[in-house]
This record gives sequence, structure tokens and C-alpha cells, in this order.
Amino acid sequence: MWETVIGLEVHVELSTKSKIFCSCSTAFGGEPNTQCCPVCMGMPGTLPVFNKQVLEYAAKAAIALHCEISRTTVFDRKNYFYPDLPKAYQISQLYSPIGRNGYMEIEVEGETKRIGIHEMHMEEDAGKLIHSEFDNETYPDYNRCGVPLIEIVAEPDFRSAKEVVAYLEKLKSMCEYLGISDCKMQEGSMRADVNLSVRKKGDAAFGVRTETKNVNSFRAIEHAIEFETARQIDILESGGTVKQETRHWNEDRRTGVAMRSKENAQDYRYFPDPDLPPVVLSEEYIERLTSSLPELSEVRRARFTQEYALSDYAAGRLTASKALADLFENTVKLCNEPKETANWLIECLPKALDDAGVAFEDADISFETFAEFIGAIRSKTINKNVGMKVLAAMVKEGSSFDLKGYIEKNGMAMIDDTDMIRAAVKKVLAENQKSVEEYRAGKTKVLGFLIGQVMRSLGGKANPASVNAVMAEELNG
Ligand code: ADP
Ligand code: MG
Ligand code: ZN
Repeated sequence: MWETVIGLEVHVELSTKSKIFCSCSTAFGGEPNTQCCPVCMGMPGTLPVFNKQVLEYAAKAAIALHCEISRTTVFDRKNYFYPDLPKAYQISQLYSPIGRNGYMEIEVEGETKRIGIHEMHMEEDAGKLIHSEFDNETYPDYNRCGVPLIEIVAEPDFRSAKEVVAYLEKLKSMCEYLGISDCKMQEGSMRADVNLSVRKKGDAAFGVRTETKNVNSFRAIEHAIEFETARQIDILESGGTVKQETRHWNEDRRTGVAMRSKENAQDYRYFPDPDLPPVVLSEEYIERLTSSLPELSEVRRARFTQEYALSDYAAGRLTASKALADLFENTVKLCNEPKETANWLIECLPKALDDAGVAFEDADISFETFAEFIGAIRSKTINKNVGMKVLAAMVKEGSSFDLKGYIEKNGMAMIDDTDMIRAAVKKVLAENQKSVEEYRAGKTKVLGFLIGQVMRSLGGKANPASVNAVMAEELNG
């Protein structure tokens, strides 16, 4: 039996306002070549100046990843020629990266696993090449040159795509908590290179690995891992050997192709950048950053189970996203209904977002409105069924949503008038004699159908408990 061994190199764009070595803007999506200057365009004679905010963000990430922090960290030049890199070298770190020997804990199928972090370093991003289909030319866009990155190199500790995705999700959440990156894979602010080899289960030595680049969604990562695992097993089983190479993933065609044989560090002729002095991190600086770190997801999760009596599962789901956990806590402060709030956020909100085609980050739900909503459910102003519709509208309209007005305007208030419910029940029973007979003959499954008919005839707005009670009386009594 074969075993897959995976190691990840993840690049995360830091959300500083300006670039790492100049004051150009880092904003995404600007007109090509409008956010660059002689420094980031690599003009001879210009000098880089290190952005302190980058150091702070990178150091926070290294601390959160439990790394040993270098007291002196140095920038090195990584030399290579490519049209998206006008200087013909990238300022990166090889010999003294900011962090080493850290770890991150992930959870897969209820099991906790520790993934080793080999090292974490700072570097500048390269530009982008735009391939025009119009005239078949390639145009460089240097706006991204010099955008700050951290690269996080994990040990080959992953054994499945599930573990890889769990790690990336945790990393994204960590960056969100730290406020250092938005980690949008679709905009390239989080990018993963997948190093993968296979070996016979039980073997001590690793097999030869390939590195697959350009996998830019969780789905693509799963596909790329599946594809590359099968490809390598195929080669080995037919007596061949895997070549160490860099491969490119094409998600549209669901296939990977070899790009080049893999370079070694010496091919890049690394040397310390003479334009940048070593960066010294004092004990005091590191201590100040450590104590200023926000409460991270694990700690918050444990606190949620204690403070709000939530299950570990619910607390885990809520705290996986800082924004979601904030929405939960702010709502509960106002309505004091932790269980009900957690249920709606975990069970119903994802469906409402999905139906509306809105991402949670973009939904802009106000906690005041959400607390009012939970109040309306608890006070039985609306039932759960109607609640789903209201939630969908809230998601679509964002922070300006008027809950009371919406319920009134759409006549959604809960019907709990027993006479009215009884009339509806009687009508449904009269119209469905056959089902009633079936029920009385012991086929109790038809009860759900009958209740559904009553709910429908009352526009889905009736109190389900009252419908159940009246139905039972009419059927049995
Ligand atoms: P390089 O410097 O050439 O990129 P590294 O040794 O630093 O190589 O490793 C880069 C990445 O490859 C790391 O994430 C590491 O975990 C992973 N890796 C190393 N060896 C293997 C292997 N045999 N199988 C899978 N992944 C590996
Ligand atoms: Mg590498
Ligand atoms: Zn610049």
C-alpha cells in the first residue's frame, strides 16, 4: 500500500498599506503599472527602505506559529531572471529567516495533529505577466512587485488532502485573527505550492518529490494532490522513477504538466543583500508583540465552551472565523441567548449565505439586527420557518436591513390563534381522508405530510407547537 507525503510552502501577502521596500500602494486590482516607482521597478542606483509594519506583521505570525524568533534577521538576494522581476533578483531570506522550528495544530476528523513549521521568512512579491489573447503578446504589470509576503515552509508532515486543507483554513483564520492578511486565494493573497512524494507504507525514507505550483483554491489543491499521487504511483508501479521537478497545475483541465527540473538553492546564488542592514529584534520588542497578540482561535474556543456552555463542536465552528466569533459574542451581549444564537449562526446562516450567493465576509450583518432577530424568534414573533426567509433577506440587504419593517411589510408574524389553526387542521383532514385512514391504521408516517399541508395553508407562519397539539387532538380525540 502506498502512502502520500506532502509538504507545503505557503505565501501570504501581508495587508500593509505600502510595499515592503518603498511607499507604493499595495492595493489589489489597480490599473497596470500605476502603483510602482524606481525602487520596486528595479532601477539601478535606487535603495530599498524596510517597512517596519512588515516586520511587525511577520513577527506576529512567527510567534503565533510557535517559532523560535531570530534576534537578528537578514535579507538575502535570490537571483534569477524572469520578465516579472525587473531587478533580476528577489529580496528574500535564506540564512537567517525571521522564524524557525514552529508548529501548528490542526484537527481532522476529531483528531488533533501537529504540523511542523520548518521556517518562516519575509520577502517581496514579483510582478504579474498578463498574456493578451487579443494580440498574443505578454505585458508585464509591476504593481505587485514589492508587495510584502511571508513564506511559511511546513515539514513534510501531511498525509492527505484533508490535512492540507485543514492547515490552510487554520492559517487563514490565524491571519484573520492577527489582522495581517485577508488570505484570499482567488486574489492570490494566499498561494500554496504542494510538494508531494509517495512511499510504501512503513518505509522510513521519503520518495522523490515534485513541487506543484499554481494551485489557487481548496478544490484545486484536492484535485492536484489526487492527480499527482496517482501519477507517481503509476510511474513507480510500472518500474520507473519519479523525476524531481516543478509542475504546473491546470484546474480547468484537471491536469498537471512538468514546467522545469527543480532548481537547488545554489542555482539562485543567494547572498546577503548589501543594501539592507540586518534587522535586530530586541527582547523587549518580541515581548511587546507577544503580549499584544489577540486571543487566538484555540483559546477563544475553550472560553466559548466555558462561558456560553457551548459544545466543543459549536465553539470550534464559531471561532474558526474571527468575524463569525465576533458576531456571536456581540449578539449574545445584547440578547443573552448563546444557544439560540449559536444554532442560527452554525446551522442556518451558511444556507442563507449559499442561497443568496454571498460570502460571509461580504454579508455585513449587523449584530444589533441579529440580536433583534434572535429576540423575534425567542418571543415567538416569527417561527423558525419564517426565520429562514428573514435571515436570507438580512444577508442580501446587509447592515441597513430593517427587521421589524420587513416582518410587518411581508405579514410574517407568527400565527398562534388556536381557532384559526383548528379550522385549517379540520380543512386539511377533510380534504385528505385517505391519509387520515392510513394514519389511524397505524401508518403514523403520514402525520408529517398532514402537518406540512396545514403549515402550507397558513403561509408557513403558524406556531409549529400549536399545529402539532391541535393536530393530535383532532386525529386522536
Ligand atoms: P527546497 O529548498 O528545495 O524548496 P526544502 O527541503 O526546503 O526544499 O523543502 C521544500 C518543501 O518540500 C517543504 O515544504 C518540505 O516539507 C517539502 N518536502 C521535502 N521533502 C519532501 C518529500 N520527500 N516529500 C514531500 N514533501 C517534501
Ligand atoms: Mg522552496
Ligand atoms: Zn515602489
